[in-house]
Amino acid sequence: MQIKEQARNYKQEWRIKNKEYDRIWRLKNREKAIELTKTWKKNNKEHVRIYNKNYRIFHKKEIKAWEEKYREQRNKNSLKWQKNNPFYFKVQNQNRRMLTRDLTIKTIQQVYEENIRRYGTLTCYLCLKPVEFGQDSLEHRIPLCKGGTNARKNLDIAHLSCNLQKGKRTVDEYQIAQTEKQGGTNDGANNAD
Ligand SMILES: [Zn+2]
Repeated sequence: MQIKEQARNYKQEWRIKNKEYDRIWRLKNREKAIELTKTWKKNNKEHVRIYNKNYRIFHKKEIKAWEEKYREQRNKNSLKWQKNNPFYFKVQNQNRRMLTRDLTIKTIQQVYEENIRRYGTLTCYLCLKPVEFGQDSLEHRIPLCKGGTNARKNLDIAHLSCNLQKGKRTVDEYQIAQTEKQGGTNDGANNAD
């Protein structure tokens, strides 16, 4: 018990220290850090897309505050702003798109509640394993880009990693691919409705 706690403290300390080293390194090597981030984002587009999606859903307040803070500056020099803030521009754009498609906090809450009611604990509907805090993401059974909607029935909870793995496929497409990967056996894994 005590060892476990010590290990946890050590890990936490290390994480804080590491974060600080990283921050200092990034300050000293600004150009290189920007370049590294850019390259990573380019190679992990799907990750960025899903991260943005979830950031947008769970940080509505922050995004709104940020938008208000920079509204003036943005109006003054909109194009330059967009160029210098591609991430926020994207988030803001997607935010607007999502809002017009009627995704409300109430719907999100219902999706979480329904998932817990169905499985007993927050569970990834793709791999059927429990989802720990911070690993959850909102998943579209049929992606928006394939004509899916933000209706409650089209939404469920999945691990961020499973969400990434599914990508822009529908649940059916994903599950067929998974079954084929497992050598064609389908032991009741097909829970699509
Ligand atoms: Zn999962």
